[in-house]
Amino acid sequence: MGSQEVSSTVDWQGKHVTVAGLGVSGIPAARALHERGALVTVVNDGDDERARAQAAELEALGITVRLGDGATLPPSTELVVTAPGWQPDKPLFLAAAEAGVPVWGDVELAWRLRGDNGRKAAPWLAVTGTNGKTTTVRMLASILQAAGLRTAAVGNIGVSLLDAVLGETEYDVLAVELSSYQLHWAPSLRAHSAAVLNLAPDHLDWHGSMAAYAADKGRVYEGNTVACVYNAADPATEDLVREADVEEGCRAIGFTLGAPGPSQLGVVDGILVDRAFVANRQKQAQELAEVTDVNPPAPHNIANALAAAALARAFGVEPAAVRDGLRAFRPDAHRIEHVADIDEVRYVDDSKATNTHATEASLAAYDSIVWIAGGLAKGATFDELVTGAAKRLRGVVLIGADRALIREALTRHAPEVPVVDLDRTDTGAMSEAVARAAELARPGDTVLLAPACASMDMFTNYNKRGEAFADAVRARADESA
Ligand code: ADP
Repeated sequence: MGSQEVSSTVDWQGKHVTVAGLGVSGIPAARALHERGALVTVVNDGDDERARAQAAELEALGITVRLGDGATLPPSTELVVTAPGWQPDKPLFLAAAEAGVPVWGDVELAWRLRGDNGRKAAPWLAVTGTNGKTTTVRMLASILQAAGLRTAAVGNIGVSLLDAVLGETEYDVLAVELSSYQLHWAPSLRAHSAAVLNLAPDHLDWHGSMAAYAADKGRVYEGNTVACVYNAADPATEDLVREADVEEGCRAIGFTLGAPGPSQLGVVDGILVDRAFVANRQKQAQELAEVTDVNPPAPHNIANALAAAALARAFGVEPAAVRDGLRAFRPDAHRIEHVADIDEVRYVDDSKATNTHATEASLAAYDSIVWIAGGLAKGATFDELVTGAAKRLRGVVLIGADRALIREALTRHAPEVPVVDLDRTDTGAMSEAVARAAELARPGDTVLLAPACASMDMFTNYNKRGEAFADAVRARADESA
């Protein structure tokens, strides 16, 4: 199948397709392909009760399901459609490569099926990066909506791309969040414009190396038609633009927290300005919004807003809609969420800061901080993070399995900062962490939950961790009221 071909030109009738993984992407993929006449076999590693129930539903439609063996490639397979999380070195993919069988992920499938139901195939504005994807995509959707466009925030963000592409609603444009896994499996995706927000080591076990991770992120720029948006403060993102094969006339557009050069968006005297999508970019700059229109106006979040604005402007959105969209945007829960002020101390929940890169951004947003950190380190080291933040730390409360790693970094680089080491993981641990943080804080300080670690040693996920923090803070606020 040619790379630009859409499904309406593909004859699915009788095509042997193997869907790898029964799950959020596998089940709708299997159904969509079956409806188009493909002979679908779903293979799945697990064979538990849930998988059996899901398999029974698909089998009732006439789809073959093989449970307990996701490794062997069914012999007649002509195409594999995989769940994005499946690791590329799995035997199934090695067998596919050997047999010359193409492998598509959920994003590739959605890309190929767009327009298949007779509706307009909406262009995609794509966002990837190590941190800030969800926030940026939601800001972008808010801006596009403010411009009167029919749009949705989709992808690695709750709403599946396949549902968006094949559903009843017709869109003018889609704001698409893409993970590095999804990009790995999306060889023919061609976005209208795309942004890589930043690049820091993450998921290296899956990709195999930093170079492979960066290369997969960089795929988002391939074939862009209007703009490749990069972070001027993160040269690795600009390198990816340089390496990409784009359509004639496609431009590299930078965003910066400083004053923008030509073909950049940036900040001048508290105003977000555009020196890229203006008639004369050598001499002219267009005011888009005020920094205070960004919610919250933390530096990394202003960068997210600039990236969203760049993509919207690439799509032809007027400046006023950028401002209105940013004003209307509300961040998702647990992302630098202001919970309460108690005794002139601000309490902020950034439970979603699950790695050091995110936490670094979070710590940079406040002047004087009591930092609550710790959990599962996932192989990270904390020296750089602690060194960068040392001056702003009033105190630290450590929780979770790998807290000793952070404590050691604090001993090395910030020995004067008081540290409370909480040796408990029960349900009351977060309340105690908040109480101890409150003791350390002085008026004007911020108590910031930005753990730099995953949560699963103590909580089901980062949401639950954030809720435990917010509950503890609200209980204190009620007491002090
Ligand atoms: P993602 O979808 O990439 O995980 P989110 O928008 O959900 O990103 O934000 C995740 C966390 O990353 C936030 O809690 C915040 O601490 C941090 N973050 C957000 N934007 C940035 C950015 N541009 N640079 C660094 N860290 C960021």
